[in-house]
Amino acid sequence: MKRVLLTVGWCGVALLGCIACGKEQIEIKKSVDTAMGTIVSQSVYVTDVSNQAISPSIISGREASEEQQENMVESATEGVQQVLSDLEQQVLSWRIDTSQVAKINAAAGTLEGSVLSEEMEKILLTCNEISKASNGAFDVSIGSVVRLWDIDSWASGNSTTVDLEEEYVLPSQEKLNRALENTGYEKLLFRESKAGLAQTIIMPAETQIDLGAVGKGIALDYIHEYLQDRPEIVGAVISVGGSVLTYGSKDSNETVSNPWKVGIVNPLNTQKNIGYLMLNGQWCVSTSGDYERYVEVDGKRYHHLIDPSTGMPADSGVRTVTILTKSGLESDALSTACFILGIEEGMKLAEEYEAEVLFVDANGEIIMSEGMEQYFHLY
Ligand code: AMP
Ligand code: MG
Repeated sequence: MKRVLLTVGWCGVALLGCIACGKEQIEIKKSVDTAMGTIVSQSVYVTDVSNQAISPSIISGREASEEQQENMVESATEGVQQVLSDLEQQVLSWRIDTSQVAKINAAAGTLEGSVLSEEMEKILLTCNEISKASNGAFDVSIGSVVRLWDIDSWASGNSTTVDLEEEYVLPSQEKLNRALENTGYEKLLFRESKAGLAQTIIMPAETQIDLGAVGKGIALDYIHEYLQDRPEIVGAVISVGGSVLTYGSKDSNETVSNPWKVGIVNPLNTQKNIGYLMLNGQWCVSTSGDYERYVEVDGKRYHHLIDPSTGMPADSGVRTVTILTKSGLESDALSTACFILGIEEGMKLAEEYEAEVLFVDANGEIIMSEGMEQYFHLY
């Protein structure tokens, strides 16, 4: 593990754009939008339509017109938006009745439970594994506690003011204790359904699933799959609320000449970056920081990363943690878990998942895994 004392660095943004695009005809489309209740920034690199790399099914072997090329570039970013919208509405949202998470929550307390789709089964079983590995620091059954804190109504992003502070009432310890009684990954029972084909999840009446800690990471995995189905897209760097997917390269050239740069926000001064990761090809980068969502009451900050052993915002001495790995779901789950666990235990957990990790502690000291050193550059 390496330690670096944080000094105030150069002002930057979380995503650094294209510097040079090589000799090939490559169109770049940049967009900033919102989806899944967060900001989505995209830089997508699409090859010239006459390039071999383009799917013949898309342009039927003909040289495409400029208009066709423009449409393809446009549709690449729109396609990502569609993936996110479908994911939120059909799978992740606890607010939309028809989503899979909402259906699971609605069936809490019933004997028959809720039948899981294949994708949801995979998500929940992976989450349960990470819960076990983190001794329950990461736990998606924390929904009732998260609702009590009303985290979704807090400002997100790099916002430093929270409008609702004056009306905000902290949850009582009594209510938190009751919600904690219904929290715990071991309360989620997975059973073969009658047909023997799918799994069913059965959970106590007041247990609620919240996939807020993994939603952005799952989104990166879905976007990655989408990009792989689009051969005209040679590279992309896409940020979903601060979880970042890098993919391919800027010049459809697999060499290491032109890496992606992913900035890491300084938690002591969120207008600045402490440094950046230089990455080639496909990676997922997720960050959990106490500056991302919080409310201040009587001068005290209450952030959104809840320690399931107390029901309170975790006080592990960590201000922010960034995970670098190949899987979006794992990067996002591990960033939350490592924040709760703190540096020593978090470092071990990341190692177990062969992920690289970088922490900034309350003194502004940067502590990272050895493997992270080759990617991280300090400003
Ligand atoms: P992230 O920003 O990815 O670390 O996720 C934070 C979100 O995950 C919060 O807004 C809650 O919805 C949820 N959450 C908070 N604490 C936990 C926890 N210990 N385990 C699982 N989910 C959590
Ligand atoms: Mg997370």
